[in-house]
Amino acid sequence: MVLYILTILKLSISRERMTKYVLLLITTWGAIQSSAQSGPDIDSLIKVMSIEEKAGQMTQIDLGVIAQGDICALKQPQSIDLKKLETAIKTYHIGSVLNVGCGSGTIALDRWHDILKLLHQYNASNSRLKIPIVYGIDAIHGVNYTKGATLFPQQIGQAATWNPKLVKQVYQITAYETRATGLPWNFSPVLDLGRQPLWSRFFETFGEDVHLARTMSAVAIQGLQGDRLNSPFNVAACMKHFLGYSASLSGKDRTPVWLSDREMRAYYLPTFQTAVDQGAATVMINSGDINGTPVHINYDILTSLLRDELHFKGVAVTDWEDIYKLVNVHHVAATKKEAVKLAIMAGVDMSMTPNDFEFTQFLIELIKEGSIPMSRIDLSVKRILQLKKDLGLFAPFNISKNGYPDFGSKKHADLSYLAASESVTLLKNNNAVLPLNPNKESIFVCGPAANSMNLLNGAWTHTWQGTDTSYRTPGKLTILEALKKQFPNKVTYAEGSTLNVLLELGDCLKKAAAADKIVVCLGELPSTEIPGNINDLSLEPAQRQLVKELKKLGKPIVLVCAFNRPRVMHDIVKLADAVVYAYLPGDEGGRAIADVLTGVVNPSGKLPFTYPAAVNDLVHYDRKHSEDLTIDFSSNGYRPEFDFGFGLSYTSFAYNNLQVSKDTFSAKDSLLISVEVKNTGKVDGSEVVQLYYHDRYASITPAVKQLCAFDKIYLKAGESKQVQFVIKAEDLSFINKQLKRVTEPGDFDFYIQQLQQHVYYQ
Ligand code: BGC
Repeated sequence: MVLYILTILKLSISRERMTKYVLLLITTWGAIQSSAQSGPDIDSLIKVMSIEEKAGQMTQIDLGVIAQGDICALKQPQSIDLKKLETAIKTYHIGSVLNVGCGSGTIALDRWHDILKLLHQYNASNSRLKIPIVYGIDAIHGVNYTKGATLFPQQIGQAATWNPKLVKQVYQITAYETRATGLPWNFSPVLDLGRQPLWSRFFETFGEDVHLARTMSAVAIQGLQGDRLNSPFNVAACMKHFLGYSASLSGKDRTPVWLSDREMRAYYLPTFQTAVDQGAATVMINSGDINGTPVHINYDILTSLLRDELHFKGVAVTDWEDIYKLVNVHHVAATKKEAVKLAIMAGVDMSMTPNDFEFTQFLIELIKEGSIPMSRIDLSVKRILQLKKDLGLFAPFNISKNGYPDFGSKKHADLSYLAASESVTLLKNNNAVLPLNPNKESIFVCGPAANSMNLLNGAWTHTWQGTDTSYRTPGKLTILEALKKQFPNKVTYAEGSTLNVLLELGDCLKKAAAADKIVVCLGELPSTEIPGNINDLSLEPAQRQLVKELKKLGKPIVLVCAFNRPRVMHDIVKLADAVVYAYLPGDEGGRAIADVLTGVVNPSGKLPFTYPAAVNDLVHYDRKHSEDLTIDFSSNGYRPEFDFGFGLSYTSFAYNNLQVSKDTFSAKDSLLISVEVKNTGKVDGSEVVQLYYHDRYASITPAVKQLCAFDKIYLKAGESKQVQFVIKAEDLSFINKQLKRVTEPGDFDFYIQQLQQHVYYQ
């Protein structure tokens, strides 16, 4: 039949050419046909793709490019502009779309479904090969660009729970609600280590410690991806931002990182290694430069390390506009076309272009000229098509709210509440000023974070920067609202200070003087990336001044902190009777904080970072011995405001009988380390049992102490438990001068709380 039609249409073509056409037609038809079910054979599909179609697959545009309105001032609520869609699909054959349009906000579930149905249906009926479009989204702490979604604590708060089981559930729910929106790809988690407290994205990390961050990275990937990507409840994860993004010297976002390969491997690589081992499907590249080379053109990092050494098989997407930034920010390419060539040849698979099609045009030209070999392009296209197939995107797009009854449900909110309440960290509690007693006490509440949902959620909430107050999930409570529920008629309020301006204090001081206790809720402007850059880690003077004025009243003062990063506040920590650190606890944060303040929840969060006491004393807990030396040459130079792993409880725990199964061990053995923990107080509570080690002498200066295992346990008042850890030689390893991971023979000490044991490794 096909032959017959061709014979009629192309009477003049030779028999040989005709056979070629027929074969091509059959392959194309076969490739498309099988795509209706589980997905096509990728190699056959690639064979029939044109250069333009391949370049299109490697292009990711923002919703703004195909939506009604101006690219960064879209008509609200967002909707597709058919003319623009036609260009994107028919002319540029785009492979991917992301987010909600720059400068735009959260989209309702129904509207999302309309947008996505139109996008997918249009693509299915108007693109030659019907290759589905993969839509990616920043679902950073829940699917934060979908109205009514469950918003969790930001990653730093998740890490503070020290509860990987709970954190895994956070990611499972995020995956569920992301898929409920119709989106299969989440640009999360951030695997950059939080060792630079000035950095505007500190709150997006799992903190400063390699072991804790690796543990959380693993469960985040498991939670998002489950055991198969094509489940309607799982999404593809995206490891961000490969590699070394968080280590900028100045702390300003996307500014130079100067790091040795050894440090890179010791601190910044392990979380990514863990995530690759967990099967993470995609990776996003670091926007900045390391030792003078932008990572987007670094073959050693993007190909030798990521592909050849870590064996990562998935898709590497650029960060926002980063290929163009090679010209206009990094100045390593004179033209955009050269930048495209450098980035693709270094190992980029997909360009988050995202606001035009220049990338696509240059890529087509480069392929046609032979400047980028087809074999290199096919490698990336194959990875992208494989991702789409793994996600089940070749099946017809079909989405309905009915399949997701738990979207934004109470069940999900309860889990968010649990995560928030397990994250809240009690840092000071002199004379048991907490918990507050609603039956006996009255309280005065003030400060910029007291009555704001934005300050509890931080950036990536409804909008990119999270500052727009017109979005708010109905029914969620601020700290003040939650406290009012607990203390009917016993709460007074005055703001006292905005984030950076001290207000007229007459009313404030009068109300404070009349209350039994004062709760000051300190905060930081929601922000991320370059808009979140700061020049001073100190908490704004206005907020500190508010505390100082209130202190003059002689009443007990409780500080509640909702910060993006550990803002230095040594002067007011000294004045406060209690300090409650809440990180950015999300939509249930108000309730969780109020419940910790009143003892409904016994706090169990522990700091996932070292809290500095002074702006220039930014030392990590896993410091070198030289960092312990102080001006009088004694070894007590490590003086943070609060130590890594620190957090109080309303009960007390006693540790006894630390035991190690052997006093000498080798690479073939493992050590069993056990300790008895008893809740010696009057209330039930959870405790994080933390095991640290110390390598006495090593060829690379060892850390004073290093976390190697932990376990969060729940103990009723008076209850005891034995906690056990299995430790292998690898758990005590480090990166040596030759960049190899080794455990050197020698003496090791293990610490749990004040207890210590010694072991020899041979
Ligand atoms: C951020 C990424 C984010 C991307 C897409 C970038 O500016 O660095 O973390 O995933 O934008 O919104």
